[in-house]
Amino acid sequence: MTDLTNLGVAAIRDGVAAGSFTAVEVAEAFNANVAAAQEALNAFIVTTPEAAITAAKAVDADRAAGKPLGKMAGVPIGMKDLFATQGVQTTAASHILEGFKPQYESTVSAKLWQAGAGMLGKLNLDQFAMGSSNETSYFGNVISPWRRNDGGNVALAPGGSSGGSSAAVAARLCPAATGTDTGGSIRQPAAFTGITGIKPTYGRCSRWGIVAFASSLDQAGPMARDVTDCAIMLEAMAGFDPKDSTSLDLPVPEWSANLSGDLRGKKVGIPREYRVDGLDADVAKSWDDGIAWLKDAGAEVIDISLPHTKYALPAYYIIAPAEASSNLARYDGVRYGLRDLPDGSGLQDMYAATRAAGFGAEVKRRIMIGTYVLSAGFYDAYYTQAQKVRTLIARDFVRAFELCDVILAPTTPTASFGLGEMVSDPLAMYLNDVFAVPASLAGLPAMSVPAGLNAQGLPLGLQIVGKPFDEQGVLNAGLAIEARAAFTARAERWW
Ligand code: GLN
Repeated sequence: MTDLTNLGVAAIRDGVAAGSFTAVEVAEAFNANVAAAQEALNAFIVTTPEAAITAAKAVDADRAAGKPLGKMAGVPIGMKDLFATQGVQTTAASHILEGFKPQYESTVSAKLWQAGAGMLGKLNLDQFAMGSSNETSYFGNVISPWRRNDGGNVALAPGGSSGGSSAAVAARLCPAATGTDTGGSIRQPAAFTGITGIKPTYGRCSRWGIVAFASSLDQAGPMARDVTDCAIMLEAMAGFDPKDSTSLDLPVPEWSANLSGDLRGKKVGIPREYRVDGLDADVAKSWDDGIAWLKDAGAEVIDISLPHTKYALPAYYIIAPAEASSNLARYDGVRYGLRDLPDGSGLQDMYAATRAAGFGAEVKRRIMIGTYVLSAGFYDAYYTQAQKVRTLIARDFVRAFELCDVILAPTTPTASFGLGEMVSDPLAMYLNDVFAVPASLAGLPAMSVPAGLNAQGLPLGLQIVGKPFDEQGVLNAGLAIEARAAFTARAERWW
């Protein structure tokens, strides 16, 4: 039999439905890959092989009984450890939540199980989703399955914060995984590992039961091997949820049934501000390739301007920490996970000791920045200004979309880097998000598709940003690129 772990979401679902193989066989094959890679890649914080088998048995039984099967029937997936899973440890990769087993299930994960998916485990990530390299996890770094083509064995970053998700999909430990994207955390890791990921319009996927980072930006989405698989999985994840006050009350379109890479009549905008001085030569080349591919697909390519782009990163690194400092106030040693109660101490001491021991250095940095920019006296100088900038950035996009249907840009300024190369310089690390955060601040759908390899043999991604609610336009442009990039490279197995 073919190696089932080489199959993606659509192929597994259709194969299970057709009886070519059983869902249990699929779950067993992925469970074996997960176990074999755990020591080397550290992609999972917790593995749940029994949960995957139980879900698969239910799908096989439904099929035998002739019952209708869901959109994700028989597909085992990885769940980023930011989604609350009932009875299964949920940590956000932080010591402060170690041992926390939620009594409830996040809306998005519940929808995926409802659609017939099974859970292989909880995926590692940057602590509280803060980071771009998966080096801030309390549970250790995730190692990218990719290596440079120089014959060396430098451990590379899988990107972040959804680094466990990206590494697991790229290494064939799961056909797809959930991600969340606050300022690039689906797109940047997807680009670093040669996979596909989409952040839908803000509000498409419920935030209920997802550990909050920056609530006005947080959005869940799928990470998978191709555009079609992302479209299918997004259909299963999205939908109105009265439990999330910012949930979009709109029907979920049949994106996968309406995929078309024919872009005749469509206009693609190329934002001139993204062509920054000193742009990496391989990244610039892949952007040019993308432009040529979209023209080949029938699109008209035009120059556009997003004049406030250079203020996006500074605004993001005020707004996101501000919201995080408020959201993370709830970790006080009383309700969840860790409690540090020094002998003879009082309530305030317990808060302080728990938070000092429980949060990692990057999380503390964000809480301090966020508390500072929200403090009386500095609020107007920082937070109010950043909110104004956010409005200007959103307006840039509104104007651009009067001229074009989608925007094409690189996902990241460089390919993956070595673990340890950037951690000592937070600003250099933050710069990784420079192309990703504008769409986040504007709440727009945006995806990364693999576009090719750089001179070191590492994947590069192209980013497509769309109008609000136009995931279809984004997916279609992604499909047009996917068909022409013909990206078949994969990480050679060394683990
Ligand atoms: N890398 C960005 C940050 O550290 C984005 C993180 C995210 O999208 N969760 O904030």
